[in-house]
This record gives sequence, structure tokens and C-alpha cells, in this order.
Amino acid sequence: QQTIQLGRRPKGTPTYEDFNFVEAPIGSPDKGEVLVRTVYISVDPYLRGRMNEGKSYIPPFEVGEVISSAVIAQVEKSNSDRFSEGDVVIGSLGWQEYSVVKDNEVRKVDHHQAPASAYLSVLGMTGLTAYFGLLDIGKPKEGETVVVSGAAGAVGSVVGQIAKLKGARVVGIAGSDEKTSYLKDTLGFDATINYKTEDIAQALKDACPDGIDVYFENVGGEVGDAVFPLLNNFARIPVCGAISSYNNTEPDLGPRVQGYLIKTSSLMQGFTVGNYSSRFKEGAEALAGWLSEGKLTYEETITEGFDHTIDAFLDLFKGANTGKAVVKVSEI
Ligand code: NDP
Repeated sequence: QQTIQLGRRPKGTPTYEDFNFVEAPIGSPDKGEVLVRTVYISVDPYLRGRMNEGKSYIPPFEVGEVISSAVIAQVEKSNSDRFSEGDVVIGSLGWQEYSVVKDNEVRKVDHHQAPASAYLSVLGMTGLTAYFGLLDIGKPKEGETVVVSGAAGAVGSVVGQIAKLKGARVVGIAGSDEKTSYLKDTLGFDATINYKTEDIAQALKDACPDGIDVYFENVGGEVGDAVFPLLNNFARIPVCGAISSYNNTEPDLGPRVQGYLIKTSSLMQGFTVGNYSSRFKEGAEALAGWLSEGKLTYEETITEGFDHTIDAFLDLFKGANTGKAVVKVSEI
């Protein structure tokens, strides 16, 4: 089988040459283990950080290590009484076509209740990130203005929809007219901004006549900078991501924001979804409930074929995806 290893640490924007396809044996499960076939691989912006050296909230990949991320897989052979052949599972698994894993490293998902890939997106990590970041830190109230960047992505699209469910006025910032149309026409955002073609500061002013109460930060950089002058008193800024800086080789410099935060008594708080692991059940139930009631919809950009896994990852930094980016490796 093929596996994908980190070939070297990327400098700046990653390229194909930073990864190696390496042939490896499939292996067979010992007692308490299962052999699973990869079905969907989640490609995520945070993986870029793991390709750098240095301390973070999650250890870096080593050069020569198989890249890993959230994966949906199907049990091919079980040597565990917890799983049977055919079970569909999720876990943090390698970028490879098959894996042998301990039975406590994966858990079953019900792919009859929702499509299996949804457990990587709206019912999984990105949906939970949106849910907890927005509700626990952003705390949107009825009638408030919520701005979200990276709005057409996996996290951003769910943030905007939950903010609408809470009665807020929602403004989404994204990188193409197709994406802004999707936000307005399909997801019901109140206003949108294409940050690549519009003057962001002016467009934000026009879109937020009553100021900004919640800014859900996914991208950082100039998009994030434009928000601070428009903050209302006691605004909340959940800092979820800063994808515009992930490939920088120099520290990202911008206007100083402390003055804006002081003047408005605003709260800016970084978080990782892992902070909320003890409440995942609550979040997953709420998201599944909204989904089944038709109050939440989601989009996926599915890249077909294991051989294209790296393309799907690199595409995140080009904005090629709408909704969650996943790779389909095999059929269930
Ligand atoms: P997305 O589905 O949003 O995909 C990434 C998107 O980012 C692209 O489609 C692109 O959209 C946008 N983008 C890429 N480069 C830039 C740039 N230079 N400037 C502005 N936008 C850019 O990914 P996710 O929803 O999975 O993640 C969104 C953010 O949330 C990321 O920053 C990620 O790291 C973070 N995150 C944080 C978590 C946490 O626990 N704190 C958990 C999960 C995600 P466009 O066309 O609009 O440019």
C-alpha cells in the first residue's frame, strides 16, 4: 500500500516536494487490534502547523513520519470483540490506504444516521469548533452583528448558520464571488464581503452600520485588522485560526490592537476545540439536532483518490474548497 510521509519541513507555502509517497506493508491485526481500510481523509489547515518544528498544542510531525489526521475507515478484519468486519469508524489515522490500529484508537460512527464524511465536518471537529468557539466565547445575542472570516469554509459556514439561529445579523467574509453567493443564497447570511476584490475596511463599514459585536476570527492578517476599528463595547472575538499567516516565513505584523480592545472593553480569546472535549457530546447532539431539523446545512469539497491527498491539502491555502475539504479514498 501507499503511505504519505513528511519528506522535509516546508518553507513557506508547502509544495508537492515536501511529501513522499512510500510503499509499506499493510500488516495484520494482533489481539485487540483491527485492520481498517481508509474511506475519507480530512485535510485541515492546522496540519500545516504540525509540519513546522517547535512547541505547540499538538506535537509536530517528524520528517519521515506518516502524516495523520482525522480519518473515516471501514473495518476489514477484526481481532477485537469491540468491532466487526464492516463497521465504520473514525480516528486519528495515517495518510495511508490501510491501517492496523488498537481497538481503543478508533470509535464507531453511525453512517446510516448521517453520511460518514459528515463526522469529519459538521458533526465532527470543524462543527464542534464552530459550536463552542461561537457559543462559549462569542456568545451572540439576538440582534447583534456577528462577522465571520473564512466564512465559506468548514468552520466558518457553521459559525454563520449558528449565529443566524441565535438571531444575530451575520456578515461573512470569503475569497470569491461564488462563495459569497453561496453564503447569501444558500446559508442566508445577511451580508457578505469578497476580501480579494473589495476594500475590506470600507465594505465592513457598509455591511456593519451598527458596529461589530462578535468577530469569529479564522484568517487573521488584513481581514482581521479591518475589524478592530468597528468593535462595539463589550465585543467578543473568538480567535479560532489565522490561516493567512500559516505559511509566513517572517512574523506577521499589523496595526496594534490593544487600544481598540481597551476602548471597547472587548474580549479576545484564542481557543482550540480540544479545550471542550468534555462537552463534545453536547455539541455533537446539538449539531445533529439542527441538521435533522433542516436548520443547518453543510457543503463538502471532495477530492477523489488517495493519490490526490496532497493536492487537497495544498488547495486549502488557495481557497479551492467550499465547506469541508475531504479526500475520498475508497467506498463504504
Ligand atoms: P476552511 O474550510 O475554512 O479552509 C481554509 C480556507 O481558508 C480556504 O478555503 C480559504 O478560503 C481561506 N484562506 C486560505 N488562505 C487564506 C488567506 N491567506 N487569507 C484569508 N483566507 C484564506 O478550513 P477550516 O474551516 O478547517 O479552518 C478554518 C480556520 O479555523 C483555520 O484557520 C483553522 O486553522 C482554524 N481551526 C481552528 C481550530 C481550533 O481548534 N482552534 C479547529 C479547526 C480549524 P477563501 O476562499 O475565503 O480565501
